[in-house]
Amino acid sequence: MISPTTATLTVHDHNRELAGLTYVYPVLSRRAGGVSIGINLNPNNACNWHCAYCQVPDLVRGKAPEIDTGRLEGELRGFLHALVKGDWLRHNAPEGARTIRDIAFSGNGEPTSAESFPEIVDLVARLHDEFDLGGDVPIRLITNGSLMAQPRVQEGVARLARAGGEVWFKVDGGEADAIERINGVRLAPDAISRHLALCASLCPTWVQTCMFRWDGALPAAHEIDAYLDVLMGAGVESLQGVLLYGIARESMQPEAAHLSALSSAELEAIAERIRKKGLTVRVSP
Ligand code: SF4
Repeated sequence: MISPTTATLTVHDHNRELAGLTYVYPVLSRRAGGVSIGINLNPNNACNWHCAYCQVPDLVRGKAPEIDTGRLEGELRGFLHALVKGDWLRHNAPEGARTIRDIAFSGNGEPTSAESFPEIVDLVARLHDEFDLGGDVPIRLITNGSLMAQPRVQEGVARLARAGGEVWFKVDGGEADAIERINGVRLAPDAISRHLALCASLCPTWVQTCMFRWDGALPAAHEIDAYLDVLMGAGVESLQGVLLYGIARESMQPEAAHLSALSSAELEAIAERIRKKGLTVRVSP
């Protein structure tokens, strides 16, 4: 069982080692409005993308290592015990945020790159049931969606749906050049649409989008048009909506020097353009 630490989580404190574990970490999340239990399948800081705004320190290209599922299970069971049956929340979370909002696959790289991803989804769903967390604490997959064509990943996403979970699928741009600049990967925009449509056919799916100024310039109108084309190419009726973020926390990548935040009004103007396509949009400046 995990001992309470004296640290209080803040929205800026995403230190994965706070609880002293390899695969499980707590985050007081502005996204989720409480404590999110993070599952980090990439303790090696390896991702197949390199997003300009990525907050992972010492990010390297690569995939998740082999996961010690016994250790993951022990860590998650111990941490859930400390939160649900112990006084971890009282010691570590501020008043008003002493609630578990979700269990999220959201680590230091792309979680679906773990070979045992489908089995891990089952493991997390089993513990979710064991602690009787119910529908108010969903299991979320936060993914760049790039491996969605792999049957193994589709199986994991389908299992997530059976566990009542949902996917947050990253789409930040709609032109190959913009995607390369923002996500550090060369991708055809219509491939993103296909992956997004496939994901949404398997599990309730939100699009997660981060927008910002690059070298002081707003996202150009043609870039937003192309971004909207990607969502429409996937079929807006199949999507739950869009979670539109600004950059609240500093990027840990060299590209950080190019980035600056959009104002709330600027993000809201982009949100309005997305809403006109028939999508629900939640904005987090
Ligand atoms: S997909 Fe996520 S982990 Fe990978 S580089 Fe982008 S922000 Fe970082």
